[in-house]
Amino acid sequence: MSVIPVLEADVLRRQDPELAEILLGERERQASTLQLIAAENFTSPAVLAALGSPLANKYAEGYPGSRYHGGCEIVDVAERIAVDRAKALFGAEHANVQAHSGSSAVLAAYAALLRPGDTVLALGLPYGGHLTHGSPANFSGRWFDFVPYGVDGETGLLDYEQVRTLARNHRPKAIVCGSISYPRHIDYAFFREVADEVGAYLIADAAHPIGLVAGGAAPSPLPYADIVCATTHKVLRGPRGGMILCGAELAERVDRAVFPFTQGGAQMHTIAAKAVAFGEAATPAFTAYAHQVVANARVLAAGLAAEGLVVTTGGTDTHLITADPAPLGVDGRTGRGLLAAAGIVLDCCALPHGDARGLRLGTAALTTQGMGEREMAQVSALIAGVLRGEAEAVAAREEVRDLAGGFPPYPG
Ligand SMILES: *Cc1c(COP(=O)(O)O)cnc(C)c1O
Repeated sequence: MSVIPVLEADVLRRQDPELAEILLGERERQASTLQLIAAENFTSPAVLAALGSPLANKYAEGYPGSRYHGGCEIVDVAERIAVDRAKALFGAEHANVQAHSGSSAVLAAYAALLRPGDTVLALGLPYGGHLTHGSPANFSGRWFDFVPYGVDGETGLLDYEQVRTLARNHRPKAIVCGSISYPRHIDYAFFREVADEVGAYLIADAAHPIGLVAGGAAPSPLPYADIVCATTHKVLRGPRGGMILCGAELAERVDRAVFPFTQGGAQMHTIAAKAVAFGEAATPAFTAYAHQVVANARVLAAGLAAEGLVVTTGGTDTHLITADPAPLGVDGRTGRGLLAAAGIVLDCCALPHGDARGLRLGTAALTTQGMGEREMAQVSALIAGVLRGEAEAVAAREEVRDLAGGFPPYPG
C-alpha cells in the first residue's frame, strides 16, 4: 500500500522537487530517529489517505443536513459517521468533530459555557497546564480570570485539597482538569464533587489521555465532566485535530460555539480521517495498543529511575513520563539538545520542584512502531548514556538508527 500516494506517484517530485525533497526528508527523519515527544504518534496509511483525498476541496460550513454550501451530500455522510463513531467509542451523547485543534476545542468549550471576565480554576502553567488554561499569551488568560492550582512540590501529585480550597474561595464558573504533562490518572470524580459543591461547570481537557480512554487503558472523564475536550492526533493516533464530547443538554451550545462562533468551514478531509481513526480505535488491536503504550511507559520510567533520573511522581499510569536529569549532571534543556544530536527526540517541561526544566517523553509513537518492553529498556539505557556523556555521539546515533530501522513506522 502506498504510504504517501503523491510522493509514490511522483507527482509532487515532478512538479515541485523542492517540496518533494522536504516531504521525503521528513519521512526519513521520522523513520530514522526515535519519536519520544509525548504528543506525537504515527497515523495509519488509511488516515493519511483520507487526509490526502479530494475531500480537502470541499467547503462545508454548518453541520450535516444544514450547510451553507451546496454539494455537501457526500461529506455530510462522512461527518455523520465520524460523529456516530466518536459517540459509540466514548459512550457520549453528543460529539462535535469539527474543532480544528485541541486549542480550538477548548476555546469552543469556554465559548459555550463562559462569558469574558468569568473566573476559571485550572492547573497552572508551571505545573503542566496548557496555554489555553490561562496563559497571558493566550486568549484564555486575556479574556478570563484564571486561578491556578498546582501539584505537590515533593510528590508531583495534583494538590486536590488546594483545588477544593481555591474553589470554595473563588467560586469559579468553571473548573478545568487536564494537563500537558501529568503522568498519572486524574481523579475526575473528585473534580466533579468540588464543581458541584461550588456550582461550577467541569471541563476535562483530555487531549493527552483520550486515546488511552478509547483503548480502555485510562479512566474516562465522560461520566463526570460537563464537556470533554480532546485532540485526535496524540495517543488516539488520528489526524491533527480536535473533538468535543458532551451530554445532550449542551449539544447545541457546543455546536454553535464551534461554528459559527469560533470557526468557519469544517475541514472535511480531516473529519473523514477522524472517522477512520475512530474506526481503528474501536478494534481489539487498538485496545491492545493502548495497554502496551502504558506497559512501555512503565518500563521506560523504571529504567530511567534506575539510571538515576528523578521521575516525577515516581512513575506513570499513562504514556507520559516527566523526569529531572539533574542527578546525571545536565539540566533538561541541555539534555534535550544532547539527545536530539543522538536522534532521540523529546521535549523539555516544567518540574514540580524549583525552576529547572525537566524532560517530557511519551511512548505512543514507539509503541505504534511495534516496540515493546525490551526496546524500552534499551531506550532508557541509551538516554542515560547520552545524558551522562558516556555514550559517544556517533555511536549513540548509530544505535538509534539501528533500533528505529528495525521498526519502520510505514513498512513497505
Ligand atoms: C495538546 C493539548 C492541547 C492543544 O492541542 P493543539 O491541537 O496543539 O491545539 C490542549 N490541551 C492539552 C491539555 C493538550 O495536551
